[in-house]
Amino acid sequence: MPIYEYKCPACGHTFEELRKHNDRERPATCPNETCATEAVRLVSRTSFELKGGGWAKDGYSG
Ligand SMILES: [Zn+2]
Repeated sequence: MPIYEYKCPACGHTFEELRKHNDRERPATCPNETCATEAVRLVSRTSFELKGGGWAKDGYSG
């Protein structure tokens, strides 16, 4: 089962959830009980890291 990463737009909390493939479109809810806002799914962790590396390289060389 793939793991999806989510971010809560209200409190900024990020978390991961293991989802069955046919269950991936179901919204995730912020695990913070006082928040419980519907979270948005982030792009895959792999592409996120590649992007981050690009920024870091530009920053250090400049
Ligand atoms: Zn939240």
